[in-house]
Amino acid sequence: MAPQIKYTKLFIDNEWVDSQSGKTFDTYNPHDGSVIASVAEGDKADVDLAVAAAKRAFHRNSEWRLLDASQRVKILNKFADLVTRDAQYIAELESLNNGMVMRMAQTLIASSDDHIRYIASLADKIQGSTIPVDGDMFAYTLKQPVGVCGLILPWNAPALMYLHKITTALSAGCTVVVKPAEQTPLTALYLTALLVEAGLPKGVINVVNGYGETAGVALTHHPDVAKISFTGSHEVGKLIQQAAGANNLKRVTLELGGKSPLVIMDDADLNVAVPVAAAGVFSNQGQICIAASRLYVHSKIYDKFIAAAIEHAKRIKVGDPREPTTMQGPQIDKGMMEKVLGYIEKGKQEGAKLVTGGKRIGTSGYYLEPTIFVDVKDDMTIAKEEIFGPVQSILKFDTLEEVIDRANATEFGLAAGIFTNDVNNALQFTKHVESGVVWVNTYLGTSIQAPFGGFKGSGLGRERGMDCVEHYLEVKTVAMAVAKKF
Ligand code: NAP
Ligand code: MG
Repeated sequence: MAPQIKYTKLFIDNEWVDSQSGKTFDTYNPHDGSVIASVAEGDKADVDLAVAAAKRAFHRNSEWRLLDASQRVKILNKFADLVTRDAQYIAELESLNNGMVMRMAQTLIASSDDHIRYIASLADKIQGSTIPVDGDMFAYTLKQPVGVCGLILPWNAPALMYLHKITTALSAGCTVVVKPAEQTPLTALYLTALLVEAGLPKGVINVVNGYGETAGVALTHHPDVAKISFTGSHEVGKLIQQAAGANNLKRVTLELGGKSPLVIMDDADLNVAVPVAAAGVFSNQGQICIAASRLYVHSKIYDKFIAAAIEHAKRIKVGDPREPTTMQGPQIDKGMMEKVLGYIEKGKQEGAKLVTGGKRIGTSGYYLEPTIFVDVKDDMTIAKEEIFGPVQSILKFDTLEEVIDRANATEFGLAAGIFTNDVNNALQFTKHVESGVVWVNTYLGTSIQAPFGGFKGSGLGRERGMDCVEHYLEVKTVAMAVAKKF
């Protein structure tokens, strides 16, 4: 049975409200394209109200600003308890709205208990330092929350992105206005209700569902927003940085996906490398920012690897995400499905060899076959642009030196990986590859304790890890003259 939908409005100043315009938009189930619910559609007028509420909640005398940091830890830990209490429901809601296979949704929601507690634990460890400045002075730093933050979410892992961004901003002591992706507002709304149940004071969190071009633009241009944290496309990331500079010089954290290289050396254990490389690009229907979408395979093992990769891809069970044996669900929507099919056409036209998949499955929902191209060349579109679908592109190489340069010849730099049993190959590759995370003999696993973010066009700043709250803080230097009494 489909999970009951409990929240569809905007959340502003502690109230569930309709939008000022009264407009709504439908949110869909990617499994069959059916409407799940109508959701309030916010735009500039609602963003203005939400930012005003968040600004009041950030006033120096507000309940939130007067709260001890240790109390922020308690509220966020209570939130973790509530997410765990409702984990099954949240996973079902995520799967319904996003098409994520249930097993993955359950794993992600289960892991978020640790994630929230880790980020919460940082709240009362935000500390400055005392500094031996010149002269008879006492100097120290204060680290203070930056202010009202706009958090703009993607649709590919909506609950997880919400949890990471919101808990980090709140741990730092900021107040927030959230804009969920238009395709996937439902888990963001439910999680907001849990934060309120956990005791978050009025106005600290506000949620404005709506479109990027209206609500998103209003948030990124708002003069009272001090910071934007965004996960999504490279193109919109650039627009956000421009908007940030247009008036009040907002701080920005950007996580913008990539075109991540995974290198298979000739000494790699193919029993591990083949399934891990497949998981690296087919998981979540390929809708993953760290997708291993350029797979470089050494010429000595190229044919053997391809045969095993095809066999593996053919065994991936595509279907209803609610079924426990399903490994790949539907793409998020018709537009994304067509975009991926467009890349597949482009791959064929530009001379890459399609060896399995390549087509839509059925006519209901947005299902695609796991697809593999071989003999892909670095200058082909499918080797350069983020496809965000279940398409593995395999490229041949001869030497490590050559493949490092080819791996780096991209505007992106989010993730990379190498399979090898030679420690020197691993050391050379990890040192020289330009990416925010690099895996050796594994791929895809991330942890809350380790920083996450991109080099080059893949983003700015880092999420997760001990320093994640720093991106939501300002550093203030206090310098006091020491009076000469003796
Ligand atoms: P997107 O447009 O970048 O959307 C991400 C978020 O930004 C959504 O909430 C979106 O609102 C909002 N947005 C859009 N335009 C905006 C603007 N001008 N100002 C402020 N906010 C704005 O991504 P998409 O269109 O959903 O997906 C397109 C491509 O982005 C994918 O094919 C994939 O390559 C990439 N992508 C990457 C990630 C990642 O994890 N790095 C995640 C999602 C998508 P709407 O809901 O109205 O779009
Ligand atoms: Mg969009």
